[in-house]
Formats: sequence, structure tokens, C-alpha cells
Amino acid sequence: MAAQLKLGDTTVHVILKDIKNVHLSVYPPTGRVRISAPSRMDLNTIRAFAISKLGWIRRQQKQIGAQEREWPRAYVERETHYVWGRRYLMQVREGARSGVELKHDAIILCQRKGACMTRRHEIMQDWYRQQLKDAIPELQRKWAARMGVSPTSIGVRRMKTMWGSCSPDRGAIRINLELVKKPRECLEYILVHELAHLLEHTHNNRFIAHMDRLLPDWRHRRDELNRLPVPHEDWIY
Ligand SMILES: [Zn+2]
Repeated sequence: MAAQLKLGDTTVHVILKDIKNVHLSVYPPTGRVRISAPSRMDLNTIRAFAISKLGWIRRQQKQIGAQEREWPRAYVERETHYVWGRRYLMQVREGARSGVELKHDAIILCQRKGACMTRRHEIMQDWYRQQLKDAIPELQRKWAARMGVSPTSIGVRRMKTMWGSCSPDRGAIRINLELVKKPRECLEYILVHELAHLLEHTHNNRFIAHMDRLLPDWRHRRDELNRLPVPHEDWIY
């Protein structure tokens, strides 16, 4: 069961479920507040608990607000770009073919002579997508075999609120294009998480047990991602 509490200008999303303790979480990037509570607990008790924690909630929200945000890129010389968790400085060239190349700490964007600036964005997006498409099959083979699952498709999408998603019924997995900017361990973590949904649809204890067994450091990898702008809404506890 789900409910909402209003505390001044803060909305608290309440989830009642079969658990023993109350959990309070504040999520990036908007500072959304969620309380998971035992099913038998009444809303007034939960409200009193939330009010007693308002100071903490405000501090968390403030901290999240201070986090690094993705900023729009212009794709110009000396601009910072991240690929697989490493920082590169952009160089722009004109040439016969368009494309992207990494060389030492430079990311070299090549575009056709006379091509407009907006084309640079497309060239980068295509290249990012290709990076992920090159990286996924090996991870997919490794983990599908180890976990005994067979996803029907693993697609790459631009997503605003999630790092990955899984439709267990169709066996279809989607991976956020932005993962190309994070360390490779993060891509592996999201992939294993979504594949684990083919074993367990929800984040129940069996799901957590699978993650602990398969990827013992998954919490560390999750924290790496949660420090960063796009959250995966549904698994942060
Ligand atoms: Zn999940």
C-alpha cells in the first residue's frame, strides 16, 4: 500500500510493506522523500516519525542540490567529456569522415568540412551508443550463462530517470546511454541488476541474495552511480 504525507512543502511518499523497521530515504536528483514502513503502522505514527526527521531530510536535500549536475555541452575545444569514468578534453577537427577518437587524454571529434555545430552532438551520441553496443555483448554472454537467464534483447536508450529497466515478461532490458560516461563496473552492475529481474521481478530478499552472491560489491558500485546525476529510482534502499 502506498500513501502520501504533506509536511509543509515536502511530500513524503509512504510505502507500507511486510518489513520490520521504518526506512527513510531521500533520492537524487530532486530530493524526493520516501518512507517504507511495516504494514501495521498507522499514518499518524509515520507522520510523527517524518516530522522528527525533518532536519535530517532538509540536510540531505541540500546536499543533493549541491551535487554535480550534467551541464549542456557545446562540443568545443578544451571542453571536458567523460568516457568510461575517465576525463578527456575535446579537440575538434575537420576531415573527410566524421567520427570520434580517444587519444591519451584527448577526445577528438572529427566532422566534415562545413558541417554545422548541431551535427557534433549527433556524432557524439552515435559514438557513445556504439561504445555501449560494443561493450554489452561480452558482459551479456558472461552473465547470462552464469545466471542461467536468456534476455531477448538488451537495448540502449536515453533515459531521464533510470540507469536501466527490465520487462521480465518480455525478457527485454534497456540500458541508459549515459552509462558510457561512468566507470565500466557501473555498466556491469546495472546489467547484472536488470538480468536479476529475470529471476526475481521485485527487489525482494531473494533478489538481494542473488545480487550479493553474483556481485558482492554491488552496493559500492551503486553508490558510485548514486553520486552522479541520473538515479535508478527503483532500487535505492
Ligand atoms: Zn530493479
